[in-house]
Amino acid sequence: MNYDFAIIGGGPAGLTAGIYASRARLKVVLLEKGVPGGQIATTDRVENFPGFPEGISGLDLATALEKQARNFGLEIKSLTEAKTLRPVEAGYEIITSEGTIFSKTVLIATGASPIRLGIKGEKEFTGRGVSYCATCDGAFFREKKVMVVGGGDSAIEEALYLARMAAEVTVVHRRDQLRATKILQERAFENPKIKFVWNSHLIEIRGEEKVNSVVVKNKLTGEKQVLEIDGVFIYIGLQPNSYWLPEEIKRDEKGFILTDENLMTNWKGVFAVGDVRANQLKQAITAAAEGALAAYLAEKFILG
Ligand code: NAP
Repeated sequence: MNYDFAIIGGGPAGLTAGIYASRARLKVVLLEKGVPGGQIATTDRVENFPGFPEGISGLDLATALEKQARNFGLEIKSLTEAKTLRPVEAGYEIITSEGTIFSKTVLIATGASPIRLGIKGEKEFTGRGVSYCATCDGAFFREKKVMVVGGGDSAIEEALYLARMAAEVTVVHRRDQLRATKILQERAFENPKIKFVWNSHLIEIRGEEKVNSVVVKNKLTGEKQVLEIDGVFIYIGLQPNSYWLPEEIKRDEKGFILTDENLMTNWKGVFAVGDVRANQLKQAITAAAEGALAAYLAEKFILG
């Protein structure tokens, strides 16, 4: 249970760090609270990861990354949740759901999770019409009416995915312009199944056994309308999975971990990469790149 480099989180950032650290012949372990893959594994199609001109399914990309890491000998402990971290002599103890391990250096690559809207009906109908994963739950809404909340890349990408099976997709956005990448916007505007409700908030989700309607409020006019909807997919951004870390590890006001230019936190030998880090771009490719760099820098740190 003694390692040089312990990676916490098995998304593209953690797995890529695992590939690099294993090739550097560090004694390395990757802890993953579920199974490796991260958010990318629930993405229908990835078309901006270099090297795949036709795009690749998110699950295939995640599976290939895991296989590649294992091929170099990476030890992966699935279903092992890191509970906290504490400094000890010459390294850190990571207290996990399966016991305590020691590592000279640690990489936090725990990613981010969808933010909840916090409206009436959201919690109650989660799994009964409310979802945060179109690729997981979209098939339940074949030829039905669904709503997507948000205007970022996730919302528009998933609206496009849902439009392949649902009868109609209504995107509710709080402004009159989308935040999503232009190419996604173009596709959504051209898609006859996708409608937009601008300057509006979803304020209530209603139903009996399952969702059957929603209440949307126009923030400019104050007008409320009830729409018949079978499924609500919420994509209003991500919150960092940094809640489990000791308070002393510095974060920004939203909880994203602050690092220096060497991806190191304010705890020496503890690095952070990918979506959990306060960085400019949250993409699989930048997460992977940060993972590679962190493994290299951890090796240098260990060598002194
Ligand atoms: P995001 O970029 O933060 O967008 C969140 C969207 O939800 C924004 O349109 C925002 O509105 C809206 N929103 C936020 N809070 C809200 C609230 N309380 N009520 C209603 N609407 C609210 O989040 P994301 O789309 O999940 O993406 C997260 C990161 O992953 C981004 O960096 C994104 O680029 C990246 N990503 C990339 C891809 C890709 O490259 N294909 C795919 C998915 C995600 P405003 O616009 O008014 O702020």
